[in-house]
Order: sequence, then C-alpha cells, then structure tokens
Amino acid sequence: MSVLILAEHDGHHIKQSTRQLVTAAGAWQQDVHLLLVGGDLSAVVDEAAAIAGVSRVLRVEAPHLTHVLAEDVAAALLQNAAGYSVILAAHSTLGKGALPRTAALLGVGMVSDVVSIQAPDTYVRPTYAGNVLATVKNAHALQVVSVRTTAFTPAANAGVAEIVSAAVPAPFGKARWVSEHKTVSERPELATASVVISGGRSLGEQFNPLLDPVAKKLNAAIGATRACVDAGFAPNDLQVGQTGTVVAPDLYIAIGISGAMQHLAGIKDSKVIVAINHDPDAPIFKHADYGLVADLFQAVPALDAALAAG
Ligand code: FAD
Repeated sequence: MSVLILAEHDGHHIKQSTRQLVTAAGAWQQDVHLLLVGGDLSAVVDEAAAIAGVSRVLRVEAPHLTHVLAEDVAAALLQNAAGYSVILAAHSTLGKGALPRTAALLGVGMVSDVVSIQAPDTYVRPTYAGNVLATVKNAHALQVVSVRTTAFTPAANAGVAEIVSAAVPAPFGKARWVSEHKTVSERPELATASVVISGGRSLGEQFNPLLDPVAKKLNAAIGATRACVDAGFAPNDLQVGQTGTVVAPDLYIAIGISGAMQHLAGIKDSKVIVAINHDPDAPIFKHADYGLVADLFQAVPALDAALAAG
C-alpha cells in the first residue's frame, strides 16, 4: 500500500506545501506517490520527482486542467485512488475544495487540518479556533487526510522518482473557470514567509505607508487582521487567522493588533512573536515573546529608521 499526495504547484515550481506533505506522509512508512494535475506539467515534473522520499510521480495532464477546478481535481484523485491506503492533501484552498469531495465520492470520512500524525489512523487537529487540540481516530480503511502544512518541515531534494502518465478525468462540465485576478507583489508569499509583519485596524490609512518600508527591509510578508481588512485598509488576501491564512514564520511582528483568539489561531505556531501596542493589557502581550508598549505611529517609523541605520 502507498500514500497518494495531491501535489501543489503554480505551473513553474512545486510549492513548499508539497514538500511538507511528503514529510507528513513519512508517518505511514509506505511508498509515497505524488499526483500532479495541470494543463502543462513539463516545468514541474522533474522537480517533483527529485523530492526525497517520493517514489512515483503520477502526471495527470490535459488542456482542460490548465486552471484546475476542485471538481476536476477530485475526479483525478478518484480515478487514481485504487491501491492507496492514504490520500493526503494540504489544508489549502485547493485541498479544502477537492478533498472533501473526493472523500464523499469514495464513501469514506476525512480528517482535516491535521497538525500531527500519531498513528496510521490517529491524528491531532486544532479545534475551537486552536484553543483545543483534539486527537481523532479515523475508522476507514482508506485514510483521507488534509494537513496543516506549516506543522511539517519541507522535504529536501535527493530523490529520483519514476514519472508515469495517469488517467485523465473527463471535464466536470458543470463549472468553468472564467478569470482570475492575482495580486502581484514583490513581498514573499504570506503562508510561507519566514518573517511576517501584520497590522491591525488601528493603522487605518497608514497601513501601507507604515508597514511597506519595514517589510521591505526585513524581506517580510505583510499580513492584516480581519478588522483591518473589513475596514478596507488591507486587501482580503492579507488576512491572517482562523478565517484567513495560517502562518508559522520564524518572526511574527504584530503592530496595533489586540490579539483576538481568531487572530491568534493563525499565528500561534510562529517561532517568535513581537507585539507593539499602546495598551499594556492588550491580550496579544500574553502570547508575545517580546512586547513594546508604545504608540505605533511613533514606534514603527523608529523601527524603520533603526533598520535603515543598520
Ligand atoms: P481591535 O480589536 O480593534 O484592536 C486594535 C488594537 O490596536 C488594540 O489592541 C489597541 O490597543 C491597539 N491600538 C490602537 N491604536 C494604537 C496605537 N496608536 N498604537 C498602538 N496600538 C494601538 N480576526 C483576524 O484577525 N483573523 C481572522 O481570521 C478572524 N476570523 C474571525 C472569525 C470569526 C467567526 C469572528 C467572529 C471573528 C474573526 N476575527 C478574525 C475578528 C477578531 O475577533 C477581531 O475582531 C480582530 O482580530 C481584531 O482586529 P484588530 O486587532 O485589528 O482590532
């Protein structure tokens, strides 16, 4: 029996989440296969085959898969699921869309957002916005599991997996890709950045003018609270937290953020948390490794000037 991983890529490179999934798959001590779905996989198959621990790459390639829909990805998993004991995906937009559908079509239950694999059928997953870690057991012979990839280290390169063409599903047909609007940013990707600087609604219209220069100097991704996004000071894709992106950087800097549990749910795996807030009783300070009680409109320019001075 083997583990089948739904690989994530952008058509040019394999995403770090795929490498983290390979590490997670090691818990089953079985062969690990990657399923790559796309319109043109020529740029990514070799990179996938080089990941240490992967023994086979299944290539599901067709023009209608250029812009993948959850329905088509689920069909690809379904068509290639025979012989596997585990189907694994990231708890990402792709995984959240495709995996529950796959499990339902296979007639099995799934376990989502796993942060630790205790045994081949037993998992730890956060619940109640990360305030409780539940240990759950999945009774099905076929384990369908999505993992919080930030909880696993990325697998390195060292492998030489075989690459095979796999069954291509017929187009789902009832949904179609229309267009996409990508945010072009010079900043690192929020979910995988090693430094993240986030702002709350108290930054107001100064969100970008204050955070951009510091983020640039630290090569940091920029995040925001939901209150900040809802107020229109930051775009939706910057939201960090329970209903936004979950981050686990080496350094998380929270500027003018109260520390609501829904925000903390998305940052608690950060290695070091630094908070700047003018309220000494702000809940964020209970979770911060370093805290500065100060007005952010003075502290952030001072931080920027200190970084510029080297
Ligand atoms: P506030 O709570 O208003 O805090 C502002 C902070 O800024 C305060 O601590 C204040 O002391 C400080 N401050 C003000 N002025 C200054 C100054 N000049 N200098 C220094 N400090 C200053 N939130 C998320 O972030 N992510 C989520 O994913 C998310 N999901 C949610 C899901 C649900 C179902 C619900 C109900 C809520 C969710 N929320 C989420 C919202 C969350 O509960 C909080 O409302 C939100 O995180 C608060 O954002 P904030 O810290 O920017 O604002």
